[in-house]
Parts: sequence; C-alpha cells; structure tokens
Amino acid sequence: MTIFDPLRPSSASPATNGAELPTLLQGRATEKRESAYATALAQFDRAAQILNLDPGLADTLRSCKRELTVNFPVKMDNGEVRRFTGYRVHHNTARGPTKGGIRYAPTVDLDEVRALAMWMTWKCAIVNIPYGGAKGGVVCNPKELSPRELEGLTRRYATEISPFISPEGDIPAPDMGTNPQIMAWIMDTYSMHRGYSVPAIVTGKPINIGGSAGRFEATGRGIMFTVREAYRTFGWDFDGISVVVQGFGNVGSITAQTAHEMGCRVIAVSDVEGGIYNPRGIDIPRLRRYMREHSTVQGFDGADKITNAELLELPCDVLVPAAMENQITHANAGRIKARIVAEGANGPTTPEADEILMANNVLVIPDILCNAGGVVVSYFEWVQSLQQLFWEEDDVTHRLERIMVRSFHDVYEQSIRMNLDLRTSALVLGIGRVAEATQTRGLYP
Ligand code: GLU
Repeated sequence: MTIFDPLRPSSASPATNGAELPTLLQGRATEKRESAYATALAQFDRAAQILNLDPGLADTLRSCKRELTVNFPVKMDNGEVRRFTGYRVHHNTARGPTKGGIRYAPTVDLDEVRALAMWMTWKCAIVNIPYGGAKGGVVCNPKELSPRELEGLTRRYATEISPFISPEGDIPAPDMGTNPQIMAWIMDTYSMHRGYSVPAIVTGKPINIGGSAGRFEATGRGIMFTVREAYRTFGWDFDGISVVVQGFGNVGSITAQTAHEMGCRVIAVSDVEGGIYNPRGIDIPRLRRYMREHSTVQGFDGADKITNAELLELPCDVLVPAAMENQITHANAGRIKARIVAEGANGPTTPEADEILMANNVLVIPDILCNAGGVVVSYFEWVQSLQQLFWEEDDVTHRLERIMVRSFHDVYEQSIRMNLDLRTSALVLGIGRVAEATQTRGLYP
C-alpha cells in the first residue's frame, strides 16, 4: 500500500466513511476513541509494536512517571473563596528534564494532561532536544476571570506545584489559555519563594524579564518552515499557495502572518466565534491590527463570514487546524479538500479521521513534528536564561528553521523506508529515541 503519493491529487470524496476504507484499516476506524489519552495510548501501542519494544520497557514508556493533583482556594473579586483544581504530570525523564506547557481551560482533566505530557516526550525526542515531556493544567475559564483573579489563581497554582517544578527538573511554558504574562507571574512567585530571580523556571516569558526573542512567534513560524520544506521535498510550487487557518490565537495568528510573509494566500481564518473567508487572500497584517482592537476576527471588512465547520472544508492547498483537539473527525474528514493538513494544535485529528485522510491522499503533518517550533525555542530560551546570555532574533529563527527542516526529513525519510504515514513515522522516531536513551542509562538500582 502506498501511504502517500505526492503525484496523485488529494481526492476528498463526500461518500468516504469507515466502510470504504482499505480492509486493513476498517477495524480501527470503527473503534470509539473518545479521549486524547486513549488516542495517545493507541498511538503508542502501534509504534511500540512496529519497534518491537520489550513488553516491560513498553509498559514503562506508556505510563506517566509522576502525577500531581492540587486543589486550592482563590479569593474572587466579589469576596467569595472558590476552590480550583490543577494538575502537573511528568511523563518521562529518560532524555532530560521534563518540559511542557500549562493549559487553562474548563475541560482540562487528568487524562488530557497525561496525553499532552506523553506527546511532549515524543515531540522533544523527534526534534532531538534534551527534554522529557510534562504538562500542566488548571480547570478554569480564563475569559471569565478578572486580571486580578487570574493572577491570584496563577500564583497559588505555581505555589502548589512548586515542589514539582525547577530549572533543572521540570520547566513549564504557555499552552492554550495561558500567555507570557502568566509565565511572568509563575517566574515571580517561584523567585519570591527562593529569594532571588530564577528566570530558567519557565519559558515563554516576556522578553523584558529574560524571555527569548522569537519565542512568541516560534510555533507559527515552525509550522510554516515545515510546510515549505514538504513542498520543496515533493517538488511542488510553493509560490502563492492558498492557506486556511483555524484559530487566531498565538499559534494561528503567527502561522497566518508567516504564511503571508512567505508569499502564500491566506484565504480564511477563524476564532471561537467563527471564520472569515476571502478567496483572493486576506490582508493578515491589517487583520492582526483589527484583532488587537476588537479581540475577534468577526466584523473584519476584507472578507465574508463563514462558520468554523465550513472553514475546515474549504478547497485549499494547506489547512492548519490551530485551535484545539478533535476538530477533524470521522464526520468531516471525508470533506476535507486540502492537499496538506499541518497540525498546529495538539491532537486536532482523530485516529478515524487520519485513516480517511490517508485514503484520500491528504498528507497530514502531525502535531508532534509540525508544532514543535514552540518547544524548540523554549529550549533556546532556557539555555539563554541559564547562561544569562541573549541571542539575536535572527539567530533564534535560523536555528529554529534548521531544526524543523532536519526533523521533517528525519520523519519523512523514515516514513519512506518503513512505508509508514508521517504520524506513525514521527511516533516511531520519537519513541525509538526515548527507548534507546532508557536502555543506555540502564535500570536503577
Ligand atoms: N505548549 C507548547 C507545546 O505544546 C510549548 C511547550 C514548551 O514550550 O515547553 O508544545
């Protein structure tokens, strides 16, 4: 079976469903995988089988090493005290200290944090930076909190997880619902407890307290470096390609901006309230200015209104889901008309959807490769913070590009050698590297 043929056009057929998939895939396509954690475990098991991992080693690698749940009170603006729940999970430390973002969302739960921590381990190994994976989260809706409540919640959460984080052991960063200001509060809280400034405790900090130039832009730029390299590799013309971006937060807006600067035509973008579409291309710098003023892309005069569901199904060259997980599912995958799906979010495509896209020759560049630019520049920021030495933005961006290009080729060439789709190839590469490090270190005691 050919996994992906760059010479065959992608052929989304509205009639495609589980029953029409190659027989090999049918059983898996009809399975129900509701949670990100179930997906992460299923992905791991498949890669472990391909790698022929020893069952004891596989069982260790598929489990999270440490899991912390914290319940803590926060004084709200109306004087009431409200209890919040948060998590921090360390998945694996074989290749180095653990690294990963903190997510603020009402839907966060322990299983989701476990899945995201596990994906961080494989992601860091794929781009070959010396970290294991971690993730944190607080169950809350940051949009409903005042700035003072958000600061209080952040400082108390940072205090509660402080036995679990350190510049040598576990380094948090932003993720969905968090931002550089929240990293600044975590850094300040941790530093107050120590009695001196500890900038290397978090990455994604504001530049004026030791953040790295180019960190804020890193994930979006990394996505477009990877997409451009895919085009070069297949001998496709990159000039003026049409790009659709779901999500206009940090990742989505910088992806759109970078695509625009690279000469692509960004024809549609969206936020939680819905999308906007202009087949001639949207003026992204003007839209970003509009967004800063209005906090939404809605009402922008250079484009027509569409729904988030319609946006995903637009004919385009590259679709970048950069909003949240489970956006491309068995229900809409057959109607995706993009040539490439470049995953900006973590886990935006379900396993069932993966198989439908593959059958339609739509290339999926998986999250753990495609959005790794953020953690790559987090690594640069951590190194700079530890050394109190700062790099120019150009230097950061060139190093980022080299790593994304190299990682794309590592994953792509292995996928050809082993006849694997890119997601499975990325998992096999990442898990293989972690397994190797575990074996080299040996078993204690
Ligand atoms: N939250 C981002 C991710 O999912 C970045 C993590 C980091 O920079 O440590 O990759």
